[in-house]
Amino acid sequence: MRPYKRMFKKEPICNEAGLKLQLQEKLYNVKQDALMIYNKFYKELTINITKGVLSNRKDLDFMFDKLNSNTYILGSISSDKLNCIDCKKAHRLSPVDIYCYISDDASAYIPPIQNKKINNIEKARIEIVLDLSSILAIWEAMSRLYEALEYNKSDYEDFFNRLTPNVVMSSITHELSHWISDILNNKHIANIVALADEYGKEYLELKYKNINLAYYEVDAYIHGIDNLKKDIGIKEYNKLSFTDICKRYPALRIIIKDIHKYDLLISLWKKAMLKRMSRENLITDEMKRTKFRLNIDKLFETFKGV
Ligand SMILES: [Zn+2]
Repeated sequence: MRPYKRMFKKEPICNEAGLKLQLQEKLYNVKQDALMIYNKFYKELTINITKGVLSNRKDLDFMFDKLNSNTYILGSISSDKLNCIDCKKAHRLSPVDIYCYISDDASAYIPPIQNKKINNIEKARIEIVLDLSSILAIWEAMSRLYEALEYNKSDYEDFFNRLTPNVVMSSITHELSHWISDILNNKHIANIVALADEYGKEYLELKYKNINLAYYEVDAYIHGIDNLKKDIGIKEYNKLSFTDICKRYPALRIIIKDIHKYDLLISLWKKAMLKRMSRENLITDEMKRTKFRLNIDKLFETFKGV
């Protein structure tokens, strides 16, 4: 009945190579390009912010052009500058422009969409965003006595965490993986977005009524976790519980805050994450030891902690 069901019906692939491709659900390796984008746009900036070389909003106003009152333009890069094999493959089929901002908006992948009015396909865009509110809170923390601060300690840890190389690179990896997955798999995300434009934004959530449970979001978060594993090395990674992973990857904390009240969503999300993590060899020794006893309420309480 629903168009998305028709959309995802796979064409049978009969030759051996095709079958292998269909069975193999692999993660795209974009580490080198994520690092290149990080070094080009975010490395010096995040160091300058956390060391206080840049210390207030006026410094940002002076250094960067603005897209609107709360969006600073750090720069952009086209996918022809990307070198990873999967990025090159996707670029050949459908290039993307990657825009880097400081903003209150979230990072996003905007697929290539058919513009019916001018009968033209609009080029895909990726927006990688460094969170403006976190930067302002960090500056506040640096300029005032702790007692006078607005947020609690764990919030400030979170704000600093969002500016660390690993977290910024996880965001870049997440959005690049959306683009590659979309372009190399029959534009499945572009099709969903086109339907959402026509029938309402709930199409983005598919049958789950929450976008974070849609298979393409789970897929992108898994890429982010894989980036964390590559970044800290297998030995360190294996010591992490799922709570530790969430602590180091703030996007997952946001999901938990979003769904922790809904039992059904939690169990579906847990199931989806566990399934993909296990398939991609991302279950840590610590998770195996504790049999992945993920208590979302407890996790949520930990994050609320003082
Ligand atoms: Zn996403």
